[in-house]
Amino acid sequence: MDCPECGLPATARNEGRAWSTGGPVEHVRLHCVLGHRFFGPATTLLRRLRAA
Ligand SMILES: [Zn+2]
Repeated sequence: MDCPECGLPATARNEGRAWSTGGPVEHVRLHCVLGHRFFGPATTLLRRLRAA
């Protein structure tokens, strides 16, 4: 997985599922080599990745 901020390799850690309005959502924590940190639904982070 790449960092949405800088595009460098980031490690993703699965944080389990949280219930949202649309149903259970997989949450992940991203930590890139530059120290950027992201936490949120995997789908949201992936969408940010594609938009970048
Ligand atoms: Zn980064």
